[in-house]
Amino acid sequence: MKIKVSARVQNPDTVIKKSEIRLKSKLLKENELTIEKENVFAYPPFINSHDHLIGNWFPRNGENRPYPNSDVWVKEMQFAKPLIERHKVWINDSNFDLSKGNAHLLTMLGIYKNIFSGCGIVQDHISKQKNEYYNKFPINVLKNYTQCHSISLGNWWGDKSALEEWQESKLKMPFVLHLAEGIDENAQKDFQKLKDSNLLQPNTLIVHGIALTKQDIKECAEVGASICWCPGSNQFLIGRSIDVPFCLKKGIKVVLGTDSTQSGSLNILTELKCAHKMFPEIKYNDLYRMISTTACKSLYLSEESCCLDSESSNLLLVSKKCDDPFENLHKINFWDIEFLVYKGKPIYGNKEWLEYFNIKSDDYFFFSNQKYEKFVIGHPEIAFDEIDSYLGYHQKFPFIPFS
Ligand SMILES: [Zn+2]
Repeated sequence: MKIKVSARVQNPDTVIKKSEIRLKSKLLKENELTIEKENVFAYPPFINSHDHLIGNWFPRNGENRPYPNSDVWVKEMQFAKPLIERHKVWINDSNFDLSKGNAHLLTMLGIYKNIFSGCGIVQDHISKQKNEYYNKFPINVLKNYTQCHSISLGNWWGDKSALEEWQESKLKMPFVLHLAEGIDENAQKDFQKLKDSNLLQPNTLIVHGIALTKQDIKECAEVGASICWCPGSNQFLIGRSIDVPFCLKKGIKVVLGTDSTQSGSLNILTELKCAHKMFPEIKYNDLYRMISTTACKSLYLSEESCCLDSESSNLLLVSKKCDDPFENLHKINFWDIEFLVYKGKPIYGNKEWLEYFNIKSDDYFFFSNQKYEKFVIGHPEIAFDEIDSYLGYHQKFPFIPFS
C-alpha cells in the first residue's frame, strides 16, 4: 500500500515534503492501493528510553517533595496511598517475576500508555524477565539490555551485581542504571562511585544524572556514555534536571524517557512538552532526536528503528497541526495519532484504516470521542474491568483515552 502524506521525517535532518511511503505488511488486502492523506505527517514510531511498565499507576506519588534524592522517595513510596491502592491488584514477590500473578494487568497499563502516545519501542527498567514477558507485547519492549536499579541501592529488585551485569553486556547492548537522581551529597557521590566501580563505559545509559557537574558531564562525553532525561519526573520529584543544553553542547547522546506515571508525566508526548518548557533553547528537532536517532544509538537498535525510508513496516501517522513536523509533536495528544503500525500490524489509530487489512475485528477494541473513532490492538477494556473488580470501584488513568 502506498500512502501519500504532507511530509515524511526520514531522520531529524531530512524531512521530505509531500512524500510517499510504501507500507510493507502481510496483512494488507491490496498491495497496489494508493491512499492520499492531507494534513498528516509520517514518522517512525517513537522510542521511549526509560519506563517502568509495572509502575504506571495514577496519581503521582510524592507527598513530601521535593526530595533531596530519589532513594528517600523509593523508601517512602512503599507506604504511600497510590501504592497501597495498587497493592489491591498486585504485590510484587521478592524476585519481581512479572510473568506471575496479576503483574500483567499493570504492565498492560504501561504498554497502552506507550501505544497511545505513538511509541513502538520501550526500554523497561526492571530486572531481566523471562523471554515470554518480552514476546507477548504488540510493540517492542527491549530484550537486549543489562541493568542495575541504581548505584546507591544496587539491584534490590533482583539480578546480578552492577559489575556482573555490565560484563554480560559485552559492550553490545546498553547497561542502564538510575544515577545521581537528586541534589544532595549522596546524589553527588554517585558519579565517583560509578567510576570507582569501572562502570562509566561507552554503553552506560545514565538515567537522570541530576547531580552531575559540568566536569562529570565532560567525562561522560569523553567516554561516550549516554544520558536519559526524564524531565517530568525530575521536575516533580527533585525540582531540577541535569544541564541538558550543556550535555548537548558537549556532544553527549541525550535520550528521552517517561519514567513511570508514579513520578513522570502522562506519556512521551507530555514529556516533550515538559522538556521544551524546561529548556526552551533546545531546538524542536534536537528534542525529536532524543526519541529517534539518538535513542537508536544509545539502545543499540538497528537504524530502521529510527529512520522512515520510502518503504517500511513500521509507521506512525500524526495529524498536522503546524508546518514544522518537529514542533508539531508539541501540539498533539493521543487523539491526534492517526495510525500506528508496528512490524506490519495495525496497533492503534483511526478506525477506517483497518478496512485495508485482513484482520479479525475481534482482536481489537474500538472506542470514540465526538470527533474520532479509534481502534487499538487487544482488549485493554477487559483488563481495566478486572483492575476495577480488585479495587471495588472505577479507577481512571488519564494516559488512557477511554479511561
Ligand atoms: Zn526510573
